[in-house]
Amino acid sequence: MICQTIKNGIECGFMTKKGCGFIGGACKAIVEQCDGCGKVLEVAEAKYCGVYPDPAGKWRTGKCPTATHIKLEVKEAAQKINPLKASKRANKK
Ligand code: SF4
Repeated sequence: MICQTIKNGIECGFMTKKGCGFIGGACKAIVEQCDGCGKVLEVAEAKYCGVYPDPAGKWRTGKCPTATHIKLEVKEAAQKINPLKASKRANKK
């Protein structure tokens, strides 16, 4: 439904006919780490995230996965080699 509280006019999954269904009944303001992100919305002199209702939660366990102002480190998964299969492959040659 369309938000009728803080992000008035924006489609939101938490909005219901009875009001905002998010904890506390409204979105929470952004945190320090969000500064510079392209998803920040300024509403009535306060800043909110356009994606998440609780930005602090996105930074609690690491970097926000949707942030536009940081680069996420992509860890290259080392390919596991099964020694038995590798041995069989080597014997075929
Ligand atoms: S997308 Fe992440 S970094 Fe950007 S404003 Fe929202 S919570 Fe903050």
